[in-house]
Amino acid sequence: MKIKSIKQVKNLRGKKVLLRCDFSVSIKNHQIVDDFKIVQSLPTIRYLINKGAKVIIVTHLGRPTVDKPKTSNKLQITNNNEYTVKPIIVRLNKLLNKKVKYLEYFLDNNTKDVINAMKDREILMLENIRYYPGEEKNDNKFAKKLANLADIYVNNAMAVSHRAHASVSAIQKFLPSYAGLLLEKEVTHLHKVLKPKKPLVVIIGGAKIETKVPVIKNLAKIADIIFIGGMISYDFLAALKLSTGKYEVKKEDKRLAKKILSKKIILPIDFVIAGNKNGTGKARVVAVDEIPKNSYQLDIGPETIRFYTKHIKQAKTIIWNGPMGMFENKKFKTGTLSIARVVASVSQGKSFGVVGGGETVVALKQTQMLDYVDFVSTGGGAMLAYLAGRKMPGLRKIVK
Ligand code: ADP
Ligand code: MG
Repeated sequence: MKIKSIKQVKNLRGKKVLLRCDFSVSIKNHQIVDDFKIVQSLPTIRYLINKGAKVIIVTHLGRPTVDKPKTSNKLQITNNNEYTVKPIIVRLNKLLNKKVKYLEYFLDNNTKDVINAMKDREILMLENIRYYPGEEKNDNKFAKKLANLADIYVNNAMAVSHRAHASVSAIQKFLPSYAGLLLEKEVTHLHKVLKPKKPLVVIIGGAKIETKVPVIKNLAKIADIIFIGGMISYDFLAALKLSTGKYEVKKEDKRLAKKILSKKIILPIDFVIAGNKNGTGKARVVAVDEIPKNSYQLDIGPETIRFYTKHIKQAKTIIWNGPMGMFENKKFKTGTLSIARVVASVSQGKSFGVVGGGETVVALKQTQMLDYVDFVSTGGGAMLAYLAGRKMPGLRKIVK
């Protein structure tokens, strides 16, 4: 594998660099809840600045709804304030100790003046790129207009690299394209685990089996063992004709689970159950084949934790995505946090540990051991896509 890295560009002084970041952080009451993704991008931004580049940052933020567009290039902000990048700019100013300029709209005539007025080492951030209907349509004309702002394109947004969007994919037709330091790191590490030191232990939990099946399928080719947990356990239980309690498994999901069942795929031995979906009521532990009709499984049980962790400790490579239970509720966090602690504690030295997924990373953080893990992906769905062996539109011209 070869990555076209930003480090290969010889002379960045005075170059206008369009830097696609994923700064789609969650914001509550105009406050950033967690700036992990922003912090992860700082080395790339600093690198570009130190080389004397002019940096134009592009990001999306959430999923704004855009009114029916008349033309695909018109900016039509509806729920504008909720999805503005302004709080990100404030945070970036602070983190970099440097002023970051803001451009609300980049398709009108004075944009050229703003760009031309940029000095070396300056940073300008465009408003939420998903406010422009052309973005999610991967519109060529729109991508070209975006490309016209800069001399080179740098993708640093692993988390959207599985999407065919204009600022991720189409843009690469119009500008020489490179990987930012973060994207380079992500791809290098994920590539490494696809050629793992054995044994490779994979732990997959969470929800939405349809997003996890391609990953399980692809990793089953190289993994020694795949441990299942979380909501997706239901689908496998149903495939094995075991009780799923009050939870109704969709036919389609059961079929998906059934198709990939194999000796390598290991289900929990026991569960923590409760009578309500939201976890209220008395919690107790039952064996895998004893989930009562009037209950939900909300975490893996102690036998499962013991069994899974024993194998995780023997692994040379570990991939973990998806919580083992409803860890947001403290009664059902033990499984997830136990797995998190073991993965973290055998990482860096004993084993090569890779963890990814929105909620999974939140859980890992709760252990205060995130830094112990060899690689924590900011990729989420994109990490899953990569591990599933899918073609990534955002890497097309960058990774060979
Ligand atoms: P990630 O974002 O890390 O890929 P997912 O989005 O697939 O993870 O799933 C995370 C969610 O699944 C969490 O919010 C967690 O509460 C929920 N979850 C996991 N296991 C269970 C369970 N047994 N019952 C209910 N919810 C669960
Ligand atoms: Mg999630």
